[in-house]
Amino acid sequence: KVCRADFMHALKYDIKAAFSNSKEEFKKYVSNGIIKWGVPVNRVLEDGDMLIALARSSDRTPLVTFLLEGSVGTGKTALAAQIAKNADFPFVKICSTGNMIGFHEAAKCQSIKKIFDDAYKSPLSCVILDDIERLLDFVPIGPRFSNLILQALLALLKTSPPDGHKLLIIGTTSRKDVLQEMEILNVFHTLVHVSSITSSEHLINVVKNIDAFSSNEVEQLKKKTNGKSLCIGIKKLLVQIELVRQMEENQRIVKFLCLLEEEASLEP
Ligand code: ATP
Ligand code: MG
Repeated sequence: KVCRADFMHALKYDIKAAFSNSKEEFKKYVSNGIIKWGVPVNRVLEDGDMLIALARSSDRTPLVTFLLEGSVGTGKTALAAQIAKNADFPFVKICSTGNMIGFHEAAKCQSIKKIFDDAYKSPLSCVILDDIERLLDFVPIGPRFSNLILQALLALLKTSPPDGHKLLIIGTTSRKDVLQEMEILNVFHTLVHVSSITSSEHLINVVKNIDAFSSNEVEQLKKKTNGKSLCIGIKKLLVQIELVRQMEENQRIVKFLCLLEEEASLEP
């Protein structure tokens, strides 16, 4: 016999899978946390909070869409996941090619549509379209992309959720130019820029924040980079720091500066 307890059990353990606020899944997209290395990071998070509030409160805007745009490795996916986490909506889902490896075009389209169909069922939903140019199968050689998926995304981005429901869509891309050409860029209500790390000050903030080096080493790094320009995404920077962190203390900063010259075009 099926009784109330069975339903409650199912609600607690089984229904979640389809109707999930996948907090666990989100952790992997913010694997190294969000380091507040400067004003640009705070600005993105503030813009995110503002748009969450808009999606949540206003009846006139049941659909709010915004695009996080920035170079490769600047932390777009992590920031999108963090903003979605802050929103704390009952339904949050990330649409990423990582979950669709090997899918052919139509299957990809179906699985994207499925996410939105699920989102429409919840009163308050957030969907992340991660790396839109990759969702579109865009390759610069050729160049080629899937028109089927493009048309699907355009339609989904323009469709309001059912009456009384609200939907926040966060997109990410490192190819703003390509999205512009495909006329998907201006479909987003708001564009938010995600910056690279470009100054010694920001670099030092990161290094200090994760306690990578001794205070002596930090001083040395400060002196050597002061006033110089550089350009590196947080993702790559964190890897470089981990690399040198394993070395002997007396050569770490020298090696780190070498890496920055190569990877972040730091002036020698
Ligand atoms: P790609 O262009 O390859 O898609 P991405 O721009 O999406 O890269 P992420 O995959 O989000 O970059 O990687 C950023 C990494 O840096 C994550 O591991 C995240 O936890 C970490 N991180 C630390 N501080 C920040 C920050 N201020 N903003 C974004 N990510 C940060
Ligand atoms: Mg990404």
